Amino acid sequence: MDFLRPTTWEEALAAKADQPEAVPIQGGTDVMVELNFDVRRPVALLDLNRVAELREWGMAGAYCRVGAAVPYAAVIEELAGPLPGLAQASRTVGSPQIRNRGSVGGNLGAASPAGDSHPPLLAAGAVVEVESRDRGVRMIPADEFYLGVKRSALEPDELIRAVHVPPATGAQYFSKVGTRNAMVIAVCSFALALHPGERRVGTGIGSAAPTPRRALEAEDLLARELDWAAPLDPALLSRFGELCARAAAPIDDVRGTAAYRVHAIGVMARRTLTWAWNDHLGKRAA
Ligand SMILES: Cc1cc2nc3c(=O)[nH]c(=O)nc-3n(C[C@H](O)[C@H](O)[C@H](O)COP(=O)(O)OP(=O)(O)OC[C@H]3O[C@@H](n4cnc5c(N)ncnc54)[C@H](O)[C@@H]3O)c2cc1C
Repeated sequence: MDFLRPTTWEEALAAKADQPEAVPIQGGTDVMVELNFDVRRPVALLDLNRVAELREWGMAGAYCRVGAAVPYAAVIEELAGPLPGLAQASRTVGSPQIRNRGSVGGNLGAASPAGDSHPPLLAAGAVVEVESRDRGVRMIPADEFYLGVKRSALEPDELIRAVHVPPATGAQYFSKVGTRNAMVIAVCSFALALHPGERRVGTGIGSAAPTPRRALEAEDLLARELDWAAPLDPALLSRFGELCARAAAPIDDVRGTAAYRVHAIGVMARRTLTWAWNDHLGKRAA
């Protein structure tokens, strides 16, 4: 097996263009498990750990640009202010060791329907920056990035460079059901983001469909009927939960049944909207 170790982004893109079958490795918390269990035998590994710029974050226009290699620990410590939904989700990932090594870019690269960063990225309206040597940069909205189970819009010669996330302008919440509180793959998860300026509520469903996805009909309902100055109407809350549950398309597997997941998505949708709405009204009153 070849082991490619670029030190710059340009070298990394060149290596991927010349050897598209090379498997990128960042924190290795997915890749090494697959190698150890012989799930994959790549002809080459493309180690991105020497490409320092991938570990950077900062504002880029109206977005917070998070380099693909930024680990969950940094999201939690440094980005909880602008990106509270992503930070909440990051706190639930694995253990401290996994949060030190594992990255948001790696979560996107794996594109697992159960990945915890996906729902908050969808709810916030994030955009994934990918690049190839020969075709340049593509900016892919998160809700166009996930194509199937562990399949994304990334082409074989492309690498993920960063994810651009609009800083929060309203409350954001992430909720995850697992068989215990830590070191657990989500049975299912849900993220919600208020966008008060646009009078819009963003959603993200995890581990309850072949891909992470938004609950579009539920978002439309709130865009039409939510009164941003009033307490939450219980009937509207209930319909929101039903539409979120209806947007899920889960399977039965070892972690949970499809029926349980549909139920839990409805519960988490109602809970996260209630939490967010309490914050929203609290802020208005303050
Ligand atoms: C014990 C344990 C617990 C875990 N718990 C959780 C959890 O609670 N929630 C959760 O979501 N995940 C969990 N994971 C999975 C894993 O930690 C995450 O998916 C993590 O985000 C992967 O990041 P990484 O940097 O380690 O990626 P890597 O393993 O290095 O790569 C993951 C995938 O992304 C690709 N990739 C990496 N970087 C790039 C790039 N720049 N461009 C293109 N492709 C790229 C790789 O080729 C690979 O396919 C757990 C894993 C372990 C081992």
